[in-house]
Amino acid sequence: MAAVSVVGLAAAGLSDFAHGEEYLNGIKWEPPAIVTPGDANADPPSDAIVLFDGADLSKWKNGDNWSVKDGVAYSGRGKLVSNESFGDCQLHLEWKAPEPVKGSGQGRGNSGVFLMDRYEIQVLDSYDNETYHDGQAGAIYKQTPPAVNAMRPPSQWNTYDIFWTAPRFDDGGKLVSPAYITAIHNGVLILNHFELKGDTPYNRPPKYQAHPPTGPISLQDHGNPVGFRNIWVRPFQSAKGEQVRQPYLRNGDKETPIED
Ligand code: MG
Repeated sequence: MAAVSVVGLAAAGLSDFAHGEEYLNGIKWEPPAIVTPGDANADPPSDAIVLFDGADLSKWKNGDNWSVKDGVAYSGRGKLVSNESFGDCQLHLEWKAPEPVKGSGQGRGNSGVFLMDRYEIQVLDSYDNETYHDGQAGAIYKQTPPAVNAMRPPSQWNTYDIFWTAPRFDDGGKLVSPAYITAIHNGVLILNHFELKGDTPYNRPPKYQAHPPTGPISLQDHGNPVGFRNIWVRPFQSAKGEQVRQPYLRNGDKETPIED
């Protein structure tokens, strides 16, 4: 095609290049659902499942052994386990390290967010607190540190925005694809599509053991009264579409299939 300036096209009344050759992928897409975002990005959007809004812990097992005060849930005896189960999802939560500051290393403000009740992203007061790096806040416990330490001091709230891809197993229990996590701590990207090596125990290497395609979210009790608020989750499904024909180029009425 002869070079034509954008200015020239605009002058001719052509607002785009649609009269040239256009690539079409041959996929018939379903229209994406409409979701109304919250007033602030931290607020649950219209399709979120709210697990804790400050009122009570009725969406969780073992809530009786935790406490809720002034809209904040404090870790108590035993882990908190969501009633509902999730696979791929977006998870938002906010947490605050205990005050006054007590202890050091893993003993300071330790809790944790477990995806599917077995893969931990660490919650710890890592503000001016040395510990092993793959055990500090935002670490996938014993697998990787966060890329950076984006902690706020104990008097302030931290946010985690977590994007979780569940592992897949075949019918025989063999791993087909691993779990991946992307996480944003206080607006800062700390894990980018990190591939998990398996679960996250303290006392043995990580490994995958087949489990159902969904599992609960749990919050760890590590003996420290970490505060939590504003917990919501969105099960995630990619856009759906069907390949209804081969990809092709279109130029006016002329269609040219794209050969492999
Ligand atoms: Mg922990």
